[in-house]
Amino acid sequence: MHQLRWHALLQQWVVVTTARQNRPQMPANWCPFDPGSGHVPDHYDVYLYPNDFPAFAPDSDPFNPDPHPALFAETGPRGACDVVLYSPEHTLPPSALSLENWGKVVDLWTERTRQHAANPDIALVAVFENCGEAVGVTMPHPHGQIYAMPFIPPTVQRELAASRQFAESNNGANLFERLFEEEVKAGVRIVAQNSDFVAFVPYAARFPAEIWIFGRRPARTLLEFTEAERKSLAEIISVIRKKYDNLYGFLMPLMMAVKQAPLRQPEAAYRFHVQFLPLQRSPTKLKYLATIETGYGTFLADTAPEQMADNLRRSEPATGPYSGS
Ligand SMILES: [Zn+2]
Repeated sequence: MHQLRWHALLQQWVVVTTARQNRPQMPANWCPFDPGSGHVPDHYDVYLYPNDFPAFAPDSDPFNPDPHPALFAETGPRGACDVVLYSPEHTLPPSALSLENWGKVVDLWTERTRQHAANPDIALVAVFENCGEAVGVTMPHPHGQIYAMPFIPPTVQRELAASRQFAESNNGANLFERLFEEEVKAGVRIVAQNSDFVAFVPYAARFPAEIWIFGRRPARTLLEFTEAERKSLAEIISVIRKKYDNLYGFLMPLMMAVKQAPLRQPEAAYRFHVQFLPLQRSPTKLKYLATIETGYGTFLADTAPEQMADNLRRSEPATGPYSGS
């Protein structure tokens, strides 16, 4: 079974894909992402690997839901899912990836986004990474993923609705721009910056050591960045990943969401940004998304965002402090 089912209470699609349960157990000491496996080229720097058990697939039924779905509505999960291999080196943590390789990863994200943008089946390109066993990743090989989704996922819909409401009550002002301007002005939560990007702990961070990266120049998707900006993005991601792994002295378990505007809503006010959502709340404690977070959607943070920004600035490579403007 492979279909989207409508969650009538939360008004969102759930991907039901039973084939994933039958994923084969990998032999120990064997990795399909390693050169010589027969599944990837013998030589590569970065590589786009089609997901063997995709949640969204080009040959699935089209996404064609009833505009007012019934209680038990379903539709097809047409889309695409790829794995992005960051390096041929099996045990290299992303924090040790060279700047050059991060640049190639960003270029690959951009190229794949460009391909999906030409496909009318795709509404949004979700670039992301799950990193660490605490996030359920058993394969140490450095990799991320790209989901080409046939609908705008609920979190982005919520951000778009917030953006619309903000514009309506603030003479058309852009919520993303105003938030970014105020974070830069305050300065206290900035963790790192370069000529094109600023990384900061958001005012109302939900996750421990959460960081957002915003571009100084507004852009909706990766497609709008210049070559120089793509290099700057790779550079600041590299700095943040090093800081994370140096914060407690081991690989930080985290989720990285590279968030782009919907491909087919040019009028919607949105701004490209990267969100890092780490799960380690102290050297020995993990943050679990338990009942209050998952059942009620309310997050508890046990470190002040300003203090966490300070800890992250001191983590190597040390940066700041930033006094704001
Ligand atoms: Zn490997």
